[in-house]
Amino acid sequence: MRGVVFTGNRKSELRTFPDPKAGPGEAVVKVRASGLCGTDLHLYRMAQATDTISGHEPCGEIVELGAGANPGLRVGDRVIVHHYAGCAVCEYCSMGYEQLCAKGHVTYGGGTAHGANAEYMLVPARTLVHLPEALSFEGGAALSCGTGTAWNGLNKMKVTGGDIVAVFGQGPVGLSGTLCAKWMGATVIAIDVDRARLDLARKMGADHVIDASTVDPVKAIVDLTGGQGATAALESSGNPVARSQTVACLRPFSRACYVGAGGPAEIDINRDLIFKVTTVFGSWTFSKAELVECARFMVDTGLPLDTLITHRFTLEQAEEAFRLFDAGGTGKCMIVNG
Ligand SMILES: [Zn+2]
Ligand SMILES: [Zn+2]
Repeated sequence: MRGVVFTGNRKSELRTFPDPKAGPGEAVVKVRASGLCGTDLHLYRMAQATDTISGHEPCGEIVELGAGANPGLRVGDRVIVHHYAGCAVCEYCSMGYEQLCAKGHVTYGGGTAHGANAEYMLVPARTLVHLPEALSFEGGAALSCGTGTAWNGLNKMKVTGGDIVAVFGQGPVGLSGTLCAKWMGATVIAIDVDRARLDLARKMGADHVIDASTVDPVKAIVDLTGGQGATAALESSGNPVARSQTVACLRPFSRACYVGAGGPAEIDINRDLIFKVTTVFGSWTFSKAELVECARFMVDTGLPLDTLITHRFTLEQAEEAFRLFDAGGTGKCMIVNG
């Protein structure tokens, strides 16, 4: 089979690998859609090459099951991969949070195990959850990291129709946050420094967009909310300035959730946390159970998941896909296999 590897300094290459074979407890998934995620860019931009296949947003069909694989799975099932594997038995693994495994974990497509930018993928069968009939493979791929992360952050804050949610960053995760917050009923203020991404945010239903390269977003949010501030904020950019603004833009008794990885930031704990009685969440993707819950939300609400996808590529076009995604300004990019 063929798979895409990063060869260092913003270069990628389609290489040939042996076809995977399912061992005990394992499954081979024919990849039907693989999403590009901001985290990929950290590996893509690194000087050193990655030996393992890229792509950590996998969705496809089971083509082979090894002996002793989970009895609820069948060949032909449409599945999303919860793309981490730990020891499977510690407290965190038992919760479905294998990325927090006390003994360490691998991330499929994250530089430690082969990922989804390939024809097939070999994973422990326990990492699979069923993709509901109503969702496309592309939708499932989006949920498996970026969109699921945004949804889970909003879900932790229990966003409802009474909320005014500020979403910092309108890359694939932030755009998903804008779309999901709208479908939870909230009024949404989308913030970014890129015009094209703010235009996409409008398409996802943002009620207001703020270009942080030209105005102070905290002041703009306070002005838009009758001098009060937002009631919830989701931070997806990882930018240190945005990280500070995420809590600065809130009114008292509000919530903030940080999902975007980035450098250290300064937060005025007196002003923005204690004296505003703020609740702050950190959230690292989601557990396997939360992935199932997220997929159910998408089906129940009929949220138009596929509208997030702005660009589709074949495996042969992966180089171009990463170049374009790295340049910014895109929405969700997908590598699709017929
Ligand atoms: Zn574990
Ligand atoms: Zn990701």
